[in-house]
Amino acid sequence: MGGGETAKTRIRRLGAFIAVVAVLVVLLLLWQTLRRRSADAVSTAGSDRTTGDLAFVSIGTGAVTGVYYQVGGAIMKLVNAKQAEYSLNVTFKATEGSVYNIDAVLNGDLDFGVVQSDRQYQAYNGLSEWAERGMQMELRAVCSFYPEAVTLVAGADTDIRALENLKGKRVGIGDPESGLRGNALDVLSTFGMDWQTDIQAQGMEILQSIKALQDGQIDAFFYTVGHPAVVITEATSGTRKARFVPITGMDNLIRTSPYYAAAKIPVKLYPKVENTEDVPTIGVMTTLVTSTRVPDQVVYCIAKEIFQSLPEFKAMHPAFADMVPQEMVRHGLSAPLHVGAQRYFREAGLLTD
Ligand code: GLU
Repeated sequence: MGGGETAKTRIRRLGAFIAVVAVLVVLLLLWQTLRRRSADAVSTAGSDRTTGDLAFVSIGTGAVTGVYYQVGGAIMKLVNAKQAEYSLNVTFKATEGSVYNIDAVLNGDLDFGVVQSDRQYQAYNGLSEWAERGMQMELRAVCSFYPEAVTLVAGADTDIRALENLKGKRVGIGDPESGLRGNALDVLSTFGMDWQTDIQAQGMEILQSIKALQDGQIDAFFYTVGHPAVVITEATSGTRKARFVPITGMDNLIRTSPYYAAAKIPVKLYPKVENTEDVPTIGVMTTLVTSTRVPDQVVYCIAKEIFQSLPEFKAMHPAFADMVPQEMVRHGLSAPLHVGAQRYFREAGLLTD
């Protein structure tokens, strides 16, 4: 009997042993599964961190149908296509224009701004809008792009054929934060007109100006832009016919300013406009600015990509077609070059000094 009990006890012990082993095997499998899952989680976190390593870079432009917006789009497209090389994520936004962009770059809201060369000069030297604040020493130039023409568009049903006819008229002179307002005021004062008393000045932004011209609420408006520009096509092809008004008699302004040059608006770019001959006016350059606060490596990469991919850049808008690298590193730049841009230009042989 006792031997039988021993056999039973042995069988029970064996059963218990097998059960314990089974539980251990299950626990081991469970532990391995959990380990694999947590390893996966760690590698996902790793790739999140890689995304986190991207530096975000913002560019201020102008109205969505202007040409600055196209500059921002071109830089974004080219630089973001090489994210593996540059680790940059570029975004751009529509703004009121040059004055807004410079101030936003200076106060850190934006990293880069597309701005008129005259505004770059004024901000760095503490003139015009910056007269009270003084020299904006942190402003830095990157490069210039293409010429912009001061463009005066009038309803074809008005008698505005020359600057003198603006007297008493309702004229859009641009948003206070746009670049062009300064150009409108320079043209008027050079012509001997007081913008506050001789015309009915309307300080509206460009998209409103086009609508106001078409609706008959204004007689004319100023805009400084590269050609061709969709904004100007819109303004000259609505139901109200429009004409460009020549801006002449500016020789003294051109001679005494470091940024104005004679320019022409080619009428063939605007088939619906009333003019049949190219229109004389004055112009400035479109430039890219940043601040000393933006890291050298970021500015280096942006400059490198603009210049290395210049053929693709130029193909993105007809206003970009004539850009020449040697001029882009010199022309229209009055703030010092950012050291990151300087490093790339030296490397590329565009700067030798
Ligand atoms: N030159 C204009 C300005 O600074 C903007 C032109 C554009 O958006 O193309 O106000």
